[in-house]
Order: sequence, then structure tokens, then C-alpha cells
Amino acid sequence: ACGIGEGHEVLVPSITYVASFQAISATGAVPVSCDINMENMQISLINLKKRISNKTKAIMPVHFAGSASQLPKIYKFAKDNKLRVIEDAAHAFGTKVNGKKIGSFGDITCFSFDGIKNITTGEGGCLVTASKKILSRARDIRLLGIENESNKRYAGHRNWISDVKMQGWRYHMSDINASIGIIQLKRFSKLSKIRKNICKSYDKKFKNHEFIKTFKRNYKEEVPHIYVIRVLGLKNRESLRKKLLKKGIQTGIHYYPNYKYTKFKDSKFLFPNTEQIYKELLTLPLHPDIKEKDIKYIFKTLNVIIKKYISK
Ligand SMILES: *Cc1c(COP(=O)(O)O)cnc(C)c1O
Repeated sequence: ACGIGEGHEVLVPSITYVASFQAISATGAVPVSCDINMENMQISLINLKKRISNKTKAIMPVHFAGSASQLPKIYKFAKDNKLRVIEDAAHAFGTKVNGKKIGSFGDITCFSFDGIKNITTGEGGCLVTASKKILSRARDIRLLGIENESNKRYAGHRNWISDVKMQGWRYHMSDINASIGIIQLKRFSKLSKIRKNICKSYDKKFKNHEFIKTFKRNYKEEVPHIYVIRVLGLKNRESLRKKLLKKGIQTGIHYYPNYKYTKFKDSKFLFPNTEQIYKELLTLPLHPDIKEKDIKYIFKTLNVIIKKYISK
């Protein structure tokens, strides 16, 4: 919808779900990996300046774990360099920046409603933008490129003989999925409070821990999507994860650096922060059914076994 394609580049953080990279490469453009800031896992502004070229058309910041605190600086950089900003807000439904909800300002914000996100429609997502042009193009593209078909269908009609000028897809959401989303919206304020409280409890437990570092987060503004810890000097992460799973604790890894994937290989540029941190990341359970006693159990279990997994 933005006219980004072959011959163009989009700046994106190294640590994100591969969906961000695939969305960029699907247009024909090249995703250009940027290093992250170790304190918040968001894209490094210093790296943006190093990786911009005359082919760069956009930045795709990823609101890692639900935090979008850097957005004002990114928008400033984008404005100075005449770049579009396409926010990957898959983690950040409900998050605010300086009191304003993401999606209510800015260029283009993309939310995901897949099964594990802050709210879900089973599968699906949406994009939010103030640009009428982008909106109308996106609406056409999602319905096989048929001009104005989207609007017609909302009014209960069809556009049988309207023109098709561009490649389109069947990307519209089904009414069944949307109806789940409408109910989820009603539950969102309750669900987001639960998520925040779980994270605050974890934070309290891990405060001043010898090996486990938490990321500084502002729960007044952000709705947390995942709870990621950094285990300093962590070795044998897979063996630790297996051990935890045996004890009934499922963990995740957010994420493997995308520049290491065969398709997105970038071996010339150096990513010192990503290289230092990615092996130490571990995601602990975070979902609305986690109770205080679960957090206690997770903390206690980790505490008992973690020493074995620290390299001196
Ligand atoms: C889930 C996720 C996506 C993809 O969302 P879909 O709805 O599955 O397309 C993109 N980026 C990030 C960071 C995600 O976590």
C-alpha cells in the first residue's frame, strides 16, 4: 500500500519475529537488520543512522514485549530522512506513548490478533493509519485488488464490474473472527490489568537478583505481551528449558537474530548488542490465567537450578 517494493530497503530490528522480515521481503524490498538497545530490545537509533542508504524507504520498529517508548525519536528520525514508519505493534495492543495510544498517532501501525496476542480473533490483525490513501489501497488490496469492493460489501452490496489495477490478495478478515475480536475488546481492560500485575509480581521477585536481570518497563504506559528475562552468563539454555518443562514450566525464546537465517543472512555487518544478549534471553509464562502462586513457583524453581547454567 505504501509503494515499497523491489530495489527498496526497510530498516528493522535484528531481534523480532521472522514475520516482520517476511512482510518486508514479500513486497520485494530488502529487510535491513539493525542492532538493538540492550536496555529495552528496541531498534538502535545509532544503528539506524549507520544502515540508512539511498534505497531506504521505511523503518519498521517492533514494539518488543509491548514497549514502544522510543517511538518519538524514531518518528523524528523518519521525518528528518523522509521515511515512512510501519510499526510492527503485534506485541503492543493497548500500549501508550506519552499518554497517547499507539495507532492514534504516527504513520501506519500493524496489530496482530493471532491466538497468543494481547487480544485475539483466532487469526487476523489490522492496520491503523490516518492516511486515506493507504487505507483505501489496503482495502482494495485485501479484496483481490477490486476497487472499492471492501466499502461496498460493508453496505451489503458487491462491485461486479469495478476495475482491477493491481495485485491483490484475499486478506480480509472473516465475520466469524471479527465477532470474537469484538468480545475480546470488551474484555481488554481486564486482561491488560492482569498482564500488568503478573509482570509487576515477576519484577518484584527478580529485583536485585544475582544472575537474572529484568527489563525496565513502564506499566503506566505499556501493556506487556511477553515477559522476557536476561540471564547473565547463561549457558546451555536448551537444557535449562528442558529442565523447566519437566517441572511444568513452559518457556520461550524471543527471538533468534533474523540476520542468521539463511534467507536473511547478513554476515558483513556487526551486531554487537544482539550477539551479546540473544543467548541470554528467556521468556517466562505470561497469560491471564497465571496466578500469584504460579509466579512464586516459577521463581523458586528457577532460583534452585539457575546456578548450574551460569558460566563463570
Ligand atoms: C505475532 C507477530 C507478528 C505476526 O502476526 P500475525 O498476525 O501472525 O501475522 C509479527 N510481528 C511480531 C513481533 C509478532 O509477535
